[in-house]
Amino acid sequence: MPSKPPIPFDNSYARLPGRFYSPQDLTPVSAPSLVILNDTLAGELKIAPDWLRGPDGVNTLSGNDIPAGATPISQAYAGHQFGGWVPQLGDGRAVLLGEVIDKNGQRRDMTLKGSGRTPYSRGGDGRAWLGPVLREYVVSEAMHALGVPTTRALAAVATGDPVDRGEPFPGAVLTRVAASHIRVGTFQYFAAKQDTEALKILCDHVIKRHYPGAKSPLDLLYGVISRQAALVAKWMSFGFVHGVMNTDNMTISGETIDYGPCAFMDQYHPGTVFSSIDHQGRYGFSNQPAAAAWNLAQLANSLLPLMGDQDAAIRHATAAIDGFTQQFDDHWLTLFAHKIGIASPRDDDRQLIKRFLDGLEQGEADFTNGFRGLLQGDVPDNLTDWKADWQARLAEQDRDPQTLMRAANPAYIPRNHRVEAMIGAAIQGDFAPLERIMGILAQPFDDQPDALEFRNLPTVNEMVLQTYCGT
Ligand code: AMP
Ligand code: MG
Repeated sequence: MPSKPPIPFDNSYARLPGRFYSPQDLTPVSAPSLVILNDTLAGELKIAPDWLRGPDGVNTLSGNDIPAGATPISQAYAGHQFGGWVPQLGDGRAVLLGEVIDKNGQRRDMTLKGSGRTPYSRGGDGRAWLGPVLREYVVSEAMHALGVPTTRALAAVATGDPVDRGEPFPGAVLTRVAASHIRVGTFQYFAAKQDTEALKILCDHVIKRHYPGAKSPLDLLYGVISRQAALVAKWMSFGFVHGVMNTDNMTISGETIDYGPCAFMDQYHPGTVFSSIDHQGRYGFSNQPAAAAWNLAQLANSLLPLMGDQDAAIRHATAAIDGFTQQFDDHWLTLFAHKIGIASPRDDDRQLIKRFLDGLEQGEADFTNGFRGLLQGDVPDNLTDWKADWQARLAEQDRDPQTLMRAANPAYIPRNHRVEAMIGAAIQGDFAPLERIMGILAQPFDDQPDALEFRNLPTVNEMVLQTYCGT
């Protein structure tokens, strides 16, 4: 009797025309060993964790074996990087093994990141090292635990091969799971080639997969705009800076993708920029809604050839993009109102929230702890007047603010200095800090009395001022 394949693949993207991707051979690695596995996610995907832990599983997760049913491909896309147009990017260090229909009937991509060169690698080696792989593993899973739509991490494997980043670092492969890896840049790729037939096929594929209710490219555009407005507002409600919001790093599904130079703020400052390559602060904390709207305008542009009469199409697409700001502002108000315990915000609550944020900024206070402190009614010294107004406002509602605030203000975020320390230990072969940080970040809204030190700000020596794409 033929045995059931260990991974139940069903690969819809690989059934699209050949110009959407390149079939991909995988480059073997010397000595793969499993660093961390996400058992819960494996279960969701109907893959046995024990199989993934075994030799066949580890060979699959490192690219040494192609499991039954996989059709490895690297996807073609283009993109605007820091505003500059790049007509061909594509998966330069990632390979889509295939798709799985999960326990909830959702189609999910399973991708190896760091698995070797592809036709899209340009000058790169197609590899990743352990640091960025574990960083993405930890931060993406923390985002999920916070309730933010995101790509997920199924596993990290060390390859046994060095990766040259000026000096040798231990190589690694991340297995990333996503609703899909289709990006704004995927639409731009075909639009720039004036390949309207491919655009139409892509549009139909995406509607079926992510927006089954959409009846037209314009509906699709509206759908993506509303998911991105919700997403960016959520990022900001947790002090998250994505860092590299290029159009190739914005998904059509509305999931956060590409954890390169991202970081959660410690001290609150609206201009916070981490990325070492973001010299203009284009993707700084408070610029994120504008960056998202800019990217969505590029999506709108790419969809125009599918939208019939061009004068009308431009009018409709412009109206859709103009709606982004209002949607973002509404999400922002709701999320931040919950953070200060207000269930149903009024327009003037925006002022109350802004005064609190200004107070945090002037007091050089920590964003996460500043909000979490409100559960105990604690505010920085410079906010005592604000506190009186806030409490008067809370007295006007009959809802208990505690439950709202507890669910909106995490005690634990992946603080940069903790992530860096975890990586430092992992390079030495010590994965205990990785296990510990994953355990803590799985329950970010719980008080965890044995993990209080993970709420602390970095000392001057521990402060991480810059983050790197450095994969
Ligand atoms: P990112 O800035 O991470 O979104 O990557 C931008 C582009 O560079 C994508 O096409 C990546 O696939 C490619 N890329 C990044 N790192 C590497 C690498 N080590 N080898 C090959 N391509 C890479
Ligand atoms: Mg990218």
